[in-house]
Amino acid sequence: MKYISHSPNETEEIARNLAKTVSAPKVICLIGDLGAGKTAFTRGFASAYGIDKGVSSPTFTLQHRYEAKGMRINHYDLYRLTDGDELLDIGFEEDIETGISLIEWPDAFMSLMPENHITVRITRGEGIDERIIEIEGAEA
Ligand code: ADP
Ligand code: MG
Repeated sequence: MKYISHSPNETEEIARNLAKTVSAPKVICLIGDLGAGKTAFTRGFASAYGIDKGVSSPTFTLQHRYEAKGMRINHYDLYRLTDGDELLDIGFEEDIETGISLIEWPDAFMSLMPENHITVRITRGEGIDERIIEIEGAEA
């Protein structure tokens, strides 16, 4: 599916709608440049589970875990990661088996992602607020 977003709110809404169709365990790979809206997308996704505050980029900690409505949302940002073993040390394999995991910057670590993941690709459109959001691998 391909969507055009014209604002951060619209990006969050697109993510919220995706959340309605996804069940755990599932990995969602977020592909896009710095400032594309990967964290905004994650924030919208988490809001579908009532996680409304505090979804920020885990750039320095690698991962944030949220729990709500019996669901674990794992938010990873692999931008600064150089060694995939570090991921395994902090429980990545268990995370991806127990919740919905949204992964920013998975690009260099695709071999660690399960085969049946969802890909969300965000690119810039026209004007400063337009984003093209392409979602592949979702059920609905
Ligand atoms: P990333 O995690 O991909 O680096 P962020 O979600 O942290 O990106 O930041 C996206 C930035 O782009 C925010 O400052 C946000 O306000 C801005 N922005 C402008 N238009 C959009 C849009 N349509 N969707 C998402 N973010 C947008
Ligand atoms: Mg981010």
